[in-house]
Amino acid sequence: MSLSLPLSCSQRVKEALSSAGIDQKLDIGSTMANKILAPVKTEQQILENSMLEDDPNANCAVTQEEKMRPRWGPQHKGAQELANLYTTGKRTQECICVGICITLMAVNFFFIVTHIHLANFSSIILAALFGIMTADFASGLVHWGADTWGSVELPIIGKNFLRPFREHHIDPTSITRHDFIETNGDNFGVTIPFLAKIVWDFIVLPEEQLRNKFLWICFVFLLAIFVAMTNQIHKWSHTYFGLPKWVIWLQEHHVILPRRHHRIHHVAPHETYFCITTGWLNWPLEKLRFWGILEYIIEFTTGYKPRADDLKWAQKGIRNDAQRNQK
Ligand SMILES: [Zn+2]
Ligand SMILES: [Zn+2]
Repeated sequence: MSLSLPLSCSQRVKEALSSAGIDQKLDIGSTMANKILAPVKTEQQILENSMLEDDPNANCAVTQEEKMRPRWGPQHKGAQELANLYTTGKRTQECICVGICITLMAVNFFFIVTHIHLANFSSIILAALFGIMTADFASGLVHWGADTWGSVELPIIGKNFLRPFREHHIDPTSITRHDFIETNGDNFGVTIPFLAKIVWDFIVLPEEQLRNKFLWICFVFLLAIFVAMTNQIHKWSHTYFGLPKWVIWLQEHHVILPRRHHRIHHVAPHETYFCITTGWLNWPLEKLRFWGILEYIIEFTTGYKPRADDLKWAQKGIRNDAQRNQK
């Protein structure tokens, strides 16, 4: 009895809305809301199409076939081939880049602290936030470009730049076994010209010109710091054991890329959630179908298929197992 009153009330409201034609609009509204708020990848898609990084002993693999046929991880044939392409020359270049970049960061930090005027504090925070967001977008753009186009066989950029992206998809935990230099060498290197330019400005520009440029300097400095830190943050997002508490805190409060959030990118075929610095832009870009539209335009104008090389490397392990089964 107690339920009949609210039910009949809701019925009456429904009838009234229906006669006014409002209920249809509400239905459309709730379908749209459901669509927008639907998870980008379901739990099942994550389980079936990405490596279980929090289960390194593959306890979740039930059948013998699942244990014998590595789709991901260090036993994958393609991952082993790609790991062997890391050369001593590349290692030397990375060491030099890390050394120069850390020195420039320290010098810049000193100059910024000594020139800061607290009266402009809110504008400085805004410029810094904008710098961090630009770094997130840049990480997405570069990651998308490297994942989606080109091939490891390309001269110079193939082995030096695209190789780690291919390796990362078939062995996502390999990044956790890379040391500081291998993880950060390339990103630190990219920021050197920008950090060097700010140091140059601090040395040669008169005080008044520096004051006018200060917000721009803060923007570029935070952009450079977050671009440099991107792969370290990315490495942390793959580290399920032994992370420092402060890193977990930053991940859980979505200041930097959280682990569960980045898992969405690692669901095959790796076509979304490319931003890996803070990940703030992943959801809006996915809802705008930003990457899909870009890929459609490129495929339409050039004829190149997105992720063709990525798929080729992913299939290496499977082909190898198929061959083994034939013997
Ligand atoms: Zn990727
Ligand atoms: Zn990753």
